[in-house]
Amino acid sequence: MSACRFEPQVIAAAERDEWTATLREHLTECDDCIAAASVSPWMDRFASIGDREHRLPDASIVYLKAKLLQGTLDVRRASRPMDVVQMIAYLVVAGGWAALLTFKWKAIEAWLRAMSPSAIVLQHSTESLSVSLIAFVVLLASMTVMLALHTIMAEE
Ligand SMILES: [Zn+2]
Repeated sequence: MSACRFEPQVIAAAERDEWTATLREHLTECDDCIAAASVSPWMDRFASIGDREHRLPDASIVYLKAKLLQGTLDVRRASRPMDVVQMIAYLVVAGGWAALLTFKWKAIEAWLRAMSPSAIVLQHSTESLSVSLIAFVVLLASMTVMLALHTIMAEE
């Protein structure tokens, strides 16, 4: 350690930038005080940086953050089976439409033809769709709409 008796005064003067004539004169002849004076402002800044930027967060904040992270993990875990159900629903709806178009195409075609203006004008009677097929189409359509709504809601 430095033994110069002026050092505390030199450091205080460097911090406040208030130099007396005596201290200025002393700096010209004392290497220890020159070193102390040049390092002092930097040491001061370093100390305040330590206070401001390296302060540990409050214990309650750390606890709350941990709780929030735990909560999102729980939600993610709970929503995973829901995604599986959604995937199955998508497959059922897509398969339903595919089956309908594949196996009942003739009936749908006839139904569409019956709906056309020429058919109505000609009063051409075609076989009507069975009640079960209409129910199936309505069910598929409503499932499709519900799935679409669920997907939109889940994304929000
Ligand atoms: Zn000195």
